[in-house]
Amino acid sequence: MIKNLLSYLEKRKSIDAETMEEIVRLLVRSDVGPKTSRLLVRDITNSNYKPIEQLKKNIIKILHEANEQFVIPEQESNTILMVGANGAGKTTTTAKLAVYLKKNHQITIVGADVFRAAAREQLIALLEPLGINVFTSFKHNDPSAVVYEAHKKAITNNSNLLIVDTAGRLHTNLNLMAELKKIKDTVIKFSKNRLPIVILVLDGTSGRNGIRQVAEFSKVLEVNGLIVTKLDGSAKAGFILEVAQITKKPIFFICNGEELSDLEPFNPENFAEIFLEGPFK
Ligand code: GDP
Repeated sequence: MIKNLLSYLEKRKSIDAETMEEIVRLLVRSDVGPKTSRLLVRDITNSNYKPIEQLKKNIIKILHEANEQFVIPEQESNTILMVGANGAGKTTTTAKLAVYLKKNHQITIVGADVFRAAAREQLIALLEPLGINVFTSFKHNDPSAVVYEAHKKAITNNSNLLIVDTAGRLHTNLNLMAELKKIKDTVIKFSKNRLPIVILVLDGTSGRNGIRQVAEFSKVLEVNGLIVTKLDGSAKAGFILEVAQITKKPIFFICNGEELSDLEPFNPENFAEIFLEGPFK
């Protein structure tokens, strides 16, 4: 879609009101959303006819407003809570994040998706061969109990970073959303009052629905930042701009494939380049 935009711009000698509308229309079709698309075409007419460069600058500016490096606080131990909708890629991303962070941390992965034994088995199968501890329980049906046990276990195996894979849930399921709050309270209680780092995993192909998810998950938990998955099919990548502009939540990482190595820190400049020139991978 964005390719249409670029070839369209290349053919124009100047930008009039009609051209502006066409640019906005093409951006909206790339899932950017009308309001953000209008921000993106800001100053495009004053740019001595270098519209693509101006567009890139505007993209980077929007992304920088929400950008924040992923940093794990320097303290005795930390817990990361991975949350999100079913199928967003939480379990896969939990494994990827463990591999990414394992060099500098002693990690225990906590399989707390008590509804899906396959998710817990997947974590064990992927990570134990790499020497990463996976703690789970097939007897508990309360994820907070699993998290509590995991904290006890982490002390005995000297882990300083727990990464908790929680069950996927829709924000419309109030019981499951309340359960997340209970998991968070359990972490706080058993980790000397340290707040968990909450990461919301968003499916990059789900388009603007992601914005709603950020809002709803933020009602029950303080979401620290996002990981956007499945950007290897880049059709909907414009949604990242919309999420950054509207939610102002930092995107810590993006995932662009199913391999364990397909996770990378989000970089606004790279994103702008790829968004305009594609493909993602
Ligand atoms: P969960 O329900 O949120 O835990 O989702 P899963 O981790 O089980 O992932 C759901 C599906 O999405 C699986 O088939 C994954 O292999 C796939 N998946 C996850 N991340 C990516 C990604 O970045 N790219 C692609 N192409 N597939 C992904």
